[in-house]
Amino acid sequence: MILGKPLESWYASYPLIRDLVALQETTWFNPGVAPVAQAIGDVGLTDADVADASARLARFASYLRRAFPETASSDGIIESDIVPVPHLQQLLGERYRQALTGSLWLKRDSHLPISGSIKARGGIYEVLKHAEDLALAENFLTLEDDYALLHSDKARAFFGQYKIAVGSTGNLGMSIGIMGAALGFQVTVHMSADARQWKKDKLRSHGVTVIEYASDYSVAVAKGREQAEADPACHFVDDENSVNLFLGYAVAAERLQQQLAAARITVDAQHPLFVYLPCGVGGAPGGVAFGLKLAFGDAVHCIFAEPTHSPCMMLGVYTGLHDEVSVQDFGIDNVTAADGLAVGRASGFVGKAMQRLLDGFYTVSDEHMYSLLALMERSEGMRLEPSALAGVPGIARVHADQQGYLARAGLDAPAMANATHLIWATGGNMVPDDEMDAYLTKGRELLARG
Ligand SMILES: *Cc1c(COP(=O)(O)O)cnc(C)c1O
Repeated sequence: MILGKPLESWYASYPLIRDLVALQETTWFNPGVAPVAQAIGDVGLTDADVADASARLARFASYLRRAFPETASSDGIIESDIVPVPHLQQLLGERYRQALTGSLWLKRDSHLPISGSIKARGGIYEVLKHAEDLALAENFLTLEDDYALLHSDKARAFFGQYKIAVGSTGNLGMSIGIMGAALGFQVTVHMSADARQWKKDKLRSHGVTVIEYASDYSVAVAKGREQAEADPACHFVDDENSVNLFLGYAVAAERLQQQLAAARITVDAQHPLFVYLPCGVGGAPGGVAFGLKLAFGDAVHCIFAEPTHSPCMMLGVYTGLHDEVSVQDFGIDNVTAADGLAVGRASGFVGKAMQRLLDGFYTVSDEHMYSLLALMERSEGMRLEPSALAGVPGIARVHADQQGYLARAGLDAPAMANATHLIWATGGNMVPDDEMDAYLTKGRELLARG
């Protein structure tokens, strides 16, 4: 019995659950998707909130430039570039034996400064927001100040009175830990069992306290929340519910809008933009997708990608049960090599806010991610971590559903010929060389087997 119903009755009401339970790669295009004008209100946030987050990041730019010299070339703005990946597109078409029209691009959050993953958006934003709130409230700072003054022993002593805690599978902990420690906060990261050793080592070298758990992400978050609640000086970064994380991610869209314009790429009804976003608990892809819908309206189509062993968001939105259901309820083990995606229960906030704004969801096996990792390196010379490859099959899943999804979305062959497909590459730059070599060796073996 699962939530009071036998498995067979779940299969009868929700046939795709059978494929998820069998760990088969599955695609579901969301019949409940609605026009932005109707559905954007579900989120409870507006473009003014995103603009406020963007302005806050601009205020911190002079601090970031000083504290993290690698951000100097972008004037203290943490942003990644977009690059076309035509060789990958060609090889994917051959591998999947499909005609993949339009042009394929990569968003390289894998190369974001400071923490080398998409978490350098939301995670760092939330730390900066909290720091600003404290400093303004205690008259340590005014909005008119040059925030470079925060790069000082005096500021570190001020923030040293306060604590930050977070539960993480690794990358969020890295962003919160590195940023929090640089400002002077006492940071504790509660790590799930799947977190890589090198991430724990790196955090400890920054003076962050790392607490390790034998269990998965949800337990690490719950433990972190419990400890933080007992301490009024401690701010808990709540990956499952945080509006600030979500807004930090959403700022990506206005930046992407400028990058696409600079590359002379049009986005409108006849030139659709498809974006493929790897999903863990949902905050990062949800926030980015919210920003994209504000920026591009109905011309952007957002599709989430999850591991076959951790399809929590697909399960939550498909059944409408959101965070009331977990993949473990159905005997799916939530064990995957895809760092950041090993989440068994999705964010209820994101699922409910975004369920009418997301075009679809699909799952990818670990073996498939590994072979795409090798294919990416062979075709484009880029090294990404396994989770960052989850977005790669998206272009093929979309093309495979001409009659269903594309017809429903009103996207005919001429529109698809004009389409831009953007793979959101969410991490990889900080993976140590020996670990990356092991990923590549494994990927090449799998690729050779077909
Ligand atoms: C965290 C993470 C994601 C997904 O973000 P969520 O907010 O957990 O959905 C995707 N890729 C990588 C590399 C990540 O670290």
